[in-house]
Amino acid sequence: MQAAMPDTTLMTIPGQVDPVPAPRDITPREDGRVDLLGLPRPRIRALLEEAGLDAKQAKLRAKQLFHWLYHRGVTDFDAMSDIAKTMRPWLAERFVIGRPDIVEAQHSSDGTRKWLLRTSDGHEFEMVFIPDADRGTLCVSSQIGCTLNCTFCHTGTMRLVRNLTPGEIVGQVMLARDSLGEWPKGKMDFAAEESEVEYRADGRLLTNIVMMGMGEPLYNFDNVRDALQLVMDGEGLALSKRRITLSTSGVVPMMARCGEEIGVNLAVSLHAVTKEVRDEIVPINRKYGIEELLQACADYPSANNARRITFEYVMLKDKNDTDADARELVRLLRQYDLPAKVNLIPFNPWPGSAHECSTPERIRSFSAIVFDAGISAPVRTPRGRDIDAACGQLKTSAEKKSRAQRDREAAETAETAETAAA
Ligand code: SAH
Ligand code: SF4
Repeated sequence: MQAAMPDTTLMTIPGQVDPVPAPRDITPREDGRVDLLGLPRPRIRALLEEAGLDAKQAKLRAKQLFHWLYHRGVTDFDAMSDIAKTMRPWLAERFVIGRPDIVEAQHSSDGTRKWLLRTSDGHEFEMVFIPDADRGTLCVSSQIGCTLNCTFCHTGTMRLVRNLTPGEIVGQVMLARDSLGEWPKGKMDFAAEESEVEYRADGRLLTNIVMMGMGEPLYNFDNVRDALQLVMDGEGLALSKRRITLSTSGVVPMMARCGEEIGVNLAVSLHAVTKEVRDEIVPINRKYGIEELLQACADYPSANNARRITFEYVMLKDKNDTDADARELVRLLRQYDLPAKVNLIPFNPWPGSAHECSTPERIRSFSAIVFDAGISAPVRTPRGRDIDAACGQLKTSAEKKSRAQRDREAAETAETAETAAA
């Protein structure tokens, strides 16, 4: 039986204009050094000038630093071979190249990996890596918590702690490359000639990025844009925008800017086809309704048959999963003439969630109706469920285990293992 749904009618729906706490993008560390992670070329250049380099030197060094930082993943100034040996300690005295701290790394039996990360001011967030036969997808977080309260999403039960900075967002991708050992090798002078094809040929595991971790990326637009620009920069992480997907619950006023200023693939968390149901399960719908949302999708720059918009649809038992819902979905996608594919996501349960997943037969029937209308409607296989890494299961909070408790448990496990071995 399904638990009673919380009464959400009085819930406030915060918007883009709501004040959201975010640290300044440049906060010197306690030792006075500045972390360069997340900064674009002009900022690096300005910092070098402020530190005393003349304009010409600063421009050259900024270009070199940018390359080592984002293209090679180097964190040690001493490894920057084209920067004069005498210059390197000068840089190291003033700057540092950081990464988010890893609190815990988990490995699922299906190969999925999840990292619990920590910001320099002590907040925890998560990222997930999902390997497949032909690709490897990193699921990146944009906020710690979320202001929205979708009823089926664990992150939605957290309050918003703060937006992640560009450094913390791009830092996730860089950390994943560190962990997977995937920084391109070779000499710096090859950089300009490296094409995406050569890049892929180097057997990379991390080929795709989805902004589908914790948070609503379009409520942290500037930082997400700045981070993704570093990811897409050919001199930076050099990942094609075609391999990046941003998922939004439907922040309509930011969608056009997302297309223009970021230009990545769009995924939209639709999840329901009637106002009544979507108002309940995706409460931002009360602010931006289904028609407005689908119109914004139709207007999304660069959406066409080659680059279709993905509509995510979580399958919730007795809520949004009837054949009539499937037919209405087809009608809506046709009405707005959307180049669409539909991703059916079996609901991933979490402790205390008020939903159940639709039955496999129901999901098959729903999928068949959409598919018969000529729209691709694959059912997404849940990944990493055993480590709570699947869609909508990400949550970090005090009620989860504290660091001290984890350490205690690790010590106990080690003791037990020793005793067993003795
Ligand atoms: N805030 C953004 C991106 C993060 S959520 C958004 O809502 O689109 C990524 C996807 O996982 C969304 O489609 C979301 O609706 C879905 N999701 C959330 N909780 C889920 C759950 N428990 N089971 C299955 N999918 C879930
Ligand atoms: Fe926030 Fe997305 Fe979860 Fe909704 S589904 S609560 S928008 S993270």
